[in-house]
Amino acid sequence: MIKFLDLNKINTRFEDELTSGFQSFLNTGYYIKGSEVSSFEEHYAAYCGTKHCIGVANGLDALTLIFRAYMDLGQLKENDEVIIPANTYIASILSVINSGLKPVFVEPDEATFNISPSEIEKHITPQTKAIMAVHLYGQLADMVAINDIAKTHNLLVIEDAAQAHGAVLSSEGKKAGNLSHASGFSFYPTKNLGALGDAGAVTTNDTELAECIKLLHNYGSSKKYINEKIGFNSRLDEIQASFLNVKLKHLDDDNSIRRTIAQRYLNEIKNPKIRLPFYDLSNNHVFHVFVVRVDNRSHFIDHLEKYQIGYLIHYPIAPHHQKALLRYKSLYLPITEAIHETVISIPMSPVMTNDEIETIINALNLY
Ligand SMILES: *Cc1c(COP(=O)(O)O)cnc(C)c1O
Repeated sequence: MIKFLDLNKINTRFEDELTSGFQSFLNTGYYIKGSEVSSFEEHYAAYCGTKHCIGVANGLDALTLIFRAYMDLGQLKENDEVIIPANTYIASILSVINSGLKPVFVEPDEATFNISPSEIEKHITPQTKAIMAVHLYGQLADMVAINDIAKTHNLLVIEDAAQAHGAVLSSEGKKAGNLSHASGFSFYPTKNLGALGDAGAVTTNDTELAECIKLLHNYGSSKKYINEKIGFNSRLDEIQASFLNVKLKHLDDDNSIRRTIAQRYLNEIKNPKIRLPFYDLSNNHVFHVFVVRVDNRSHFIDHLEKYQIGYLIHYPIAPHHQKALLRYKSLYLPITEAIHETVISIPMSPVMTNDEIETIINALNLY
């Protein structure tokens, strides 16, 4: 059986460093907001090229705290419209709804799966105040076009970079997390940079926003027992920061292995029944997942199971068709719906063996 993703194998590569990190963490006796969190914040800001990084509890909180902080600063107010991709993981949309803002669903570009800039323009109203771009599956959204639109209409741009740690926009020499006003990252264990539990971060060059989030994520407080704002408890755990400090050093190598595997899939899978993803061969893609499209997905799944190849579907139900988002059910989003009916992800990770890669390629060519 080829696992879809072998998390144990991913992390045991660094077992010695992770274990000694835990030992020194244990011995400090300092378990919340210690030196590992501040050093990770420094390292990750430097990695992304941003002025600030604030560690938080998870990716959803990172995005929600960005919206809450903009509201606190008076740059957004309740019921303002936020343009979001209809084709995304539900967390992107929840961060908008949970902040009391109004999500406006916009269709993707069918080739890249990412939000279509021309569709964004059609949905701008006087109430529109922000655009959320999601770098879905690890490929950067069209940030040049999105930032142009935002400038013209005076809108905020927020990146959901939860799937794109390390993706580079070469034309600007900038990374995911540094292509908008503020970005939310998740370090959920399966992400390209994954902790050993929940973790997240906000990156931004906006000092006022960063200061506000630093307060909001820690009970609205910078000094113990002095509360300046109505805040939350959403801190990055010290132990997770220590693991992330170890794993960040290997992120670029891991991403380049993912790209090499993706190129083999793209070159060697030759089957008209399997539609391969668009890739421009640049470093703007970190292949968080490798997503193909097939007309008859259940038939394709039978084939994968016969060859003992793991798979997942990202995602099986469009957000506007989820029970939780019933009030958006009648939206007409045919591209998003077709994507959800036909996509399936095959194994992709930096610890796959050559044999596994070849078995997968051969099996797909036999479908
Ligand atoms: C994983 C993910 C999130 C949420 O991250 P959590 O850490 O699970 O809260 C948000 N958006 C996207 C696109 C994701 O893939």
